[in-house]
Amino acid sequence: MSVYEVVIGLEVHAQLRTRSKLFCGCSTAFGAESNTQTCPVCLGLPGVLPVLNQTAVEMAIRAGLALNCSITVPNQFARKNYFYPDLPKGYQISQFDLPICQNGWLEVGEGDQTQRVRIRRAHLEEDAGKNIHQAGSGVSHMDVNRCGMPLLEIVTEPDLRSVDGAVAYLKTLKDILVYLDVCDGNMEEGSLRCEPNISLRLQGQDAFGTKVELKNINSFKFVKHALDYEIQRQETVLADGGTIDQETRSWDAERGVSVIMRSKEEAHDYRYFPEPDLMPVEISTKWIDELRSSLPELSQAKRERFVAEHGLPAYDVALLTASRPLADYFEACVAGFPNPKTVSNWIMGELLHALKNNNCEVIDSPMKPARLIALMKLVDDQTISLKTAREIFLDLFLSQQMPMDFVQERGLMQISDDSAIETLIAEIVRTHPQQCAEYQSGKETLMGFFVGQVMKASKGKANPQKVNTLLRQRLMSEKVES
Ligand code: ADP
Ligand code: MG
Ligand code: ZN
Repeated sequence: MSVYEVVIGLEVHAQLRTRSKLFCGCSTAFGAESNTQTCPVCLGLPGVLPVLNQTAVEMAIRAGLALNCSITVPNQFARKNYFYPDLPKGYQISQFDLPICQNGWLEVGEGDQTQRVRIRRAHLEEDAGKNIHQAGSGVSHMDVNRCGMPLLEIVTEPDLRSVDGAVAYLKTLKDILVYLDVCDGNMEEGSLRCEPNISLRLQGQDAFGTKVELKNINSFKFVKHALDYEIQRQETVLADGGTIDQETRSWDAERGVSVIMRSKEEAHDYRYFPEPDLMPVEISTKWIDELRSSLPELSQAKRERFVAEHGLPAYDVALLTASRPLADYFEACVAGFPNPKTVSNWIMGELLHALKNNNCEVIDSPMKPARLIALMKLVDDQTISLKTAREIFLDLFLSQQMPMDFVQERGLMQISDDSAIETLIAEIVRTHPQQCAEYQSGKETLMGFFVGQVMKASKGKANPQKVNTLLRQRLMSEKVES
């Protein structure tokens, strides 16, 4: 164990899934041609006024409630003033002393490893544009499409004590925002950006050490790499008797190092003041109550319910609730085929495998619940064997056919008809007199041999239970006759 304890607090920017920007009607679609999603408002031209997007406010409230925050009434926008080429107005409209959500918490981890991470605040703000530096050319371009995109910045207290804890917090947070449908959670496209603050202190020491803020991290993997690297760097500095400077460092994923961007700015450097172009935001208790009662079930509650209601093992539950579409898929199947463990087995096995193989999301699965239900029913009523069902799954998955049509077209129905099976058995018994005699004189292990022969003769389509029963009857009756 290190002599130092790690202290981490996270600032996460989540882009809200509204159709238009925070203060104008421009589109928020990702990937459009540069500088095509702009207007006088988000360009910051003089003489125009921002108009607050109500859906963004609604999403912020929903997120805040799910994060156990209190909603600030009234909350207020503030100007954060700074100069940078990606900020045409010269200020960012953000929130300062009256953020829309405050004093929440998030439960992270499983069982007795659970930790409550306090959320200090979550505030609305607009995004800045993007500088695009053309490598080697000495030329930079500006894309202002991103100016004015709606963000919710969610800030924790410095409650985390490990890299794994920080990653777990992020995953849980992402899960919640995606479940709520307020953010698409795509870190690569920048819809979820994380800026960890990290410091070290001697084990047992009360006061926090000086923190460093890390920027430009765009995947969970890099969060872990960047934090591991930064812990190592700070440890080395401290162990050499040095001190940590309060600064903002940028994570260079290619080289695997953090590099200094700037020494730390303070709030007063930004000359925050209330945004004069926007009224304070009054939110009625009625609206908050409505939004609270319409919150979907979050994954923690869903996990508990899946155990209680469907009696599934923890392993299955963790997998099935990993995303809302998958959990919904599972429940749609159980509604039509009320055997949760069978449904779970098909989903965790064949379905996820097929999705992965075809690089397909649950939501786009060509195998809709109705078709999986129909397949499970065919196995259940012994129209086809479980083995056949598994074998045809991948082809069936890609086809648009209902399982019954698929099976009929290919003649895959299981033979459950007694007389058909008896005919097969009679033939096998007739052609294997030697083995019959041995079985009848007590070599019962030959049963497996006979079952195998009948199954082979039926090309695997005979119902194995029936083959077993009928074979046993037949061999016994032969014995009595002889
Ligand atoms: P700043 O004023 O520099 O933005 P804040 O106190 O507002 O700093 O905190 C910003 C983030 O840094 C929060 O998520 C907080 O939890 C975290 N933080 C604050 N102090 C520390 C520290 N000593 N070590 C690690 N994280 C910290
Ligand atoms: Mg900060
Ligand atoms: Zn605009």
